[in-house]
Amino acid sequence: MGVEAIIAFGGNLGDVKNTFISARKILTGSDSVSLLACSRLYRSPPMGPADQPDYLNAVIAIDTSFCALPLLHLMQKIEAQHGRIRKRRWGERSLDLDLIAYDDMHMQSAELTLPHPGVGERVFVLQPLCDIRPEWQHPAGRSAQQLLQDLQASGIDLLKQGEIW
Ligand code: ADP
Ligand code: MG
Repeated sequence: MGVEAIIAFGGNLGDVKNTFISARKILTGSDSVSLLACSRLYRSPPMGPADQPDYLNAVIAIDTSFCALPLLHLMQKIEAQHGRIRKRRWGERSLDLDLIAYDDMHMQSAELTLPHPGVGERVFVLQPLCDIRPEWQHPAGRSAQQLLQDLQASGIDLLKQGEIW
């Protein structure tokens, strides 16, 4: 139908698992999106301010006929539908949807950077990504699996694998 895109889910306010399920349903309810794969849920300590709850994280792969920007806009609409309010940088939120990759597109603009700039350093993205696409290639030349191993080698602990959702 279209191209493969990878989307990371994060959140730490409210019933996050239900929010993820609802967001995935709305996203894949679009005629232009179908679900290809879905990681397990992971729980991770907050990045940034420490006085906030742990996060739940997950990653999905979709097949989509949307171009990258319309897909990002749909993701932002779904964030808003789930009560996303931005209080502070890296602060608590009910739902964060990040476009990790869109096919093998490489771009940098005010609105959209692809692949997502944090992917190589974030265990809470790489570990769920490795559930579903360990062979995914970062344009810098390393796979998701290798990037996760790099993080482990630098002393970062793996997250506890959670449930299927
Ligand atoms: P963060 O995810 O870093 O906590 P936000 O979700 O509030 O922050 O996103 C901030 C901005 O990041 C958005 O306005 C969006 O346009 C931009 N952005 C750039 N690249 C991406 C991407 N790959 N996925 C999602 N948002 C992105
Ligand atoms: Mg975001």
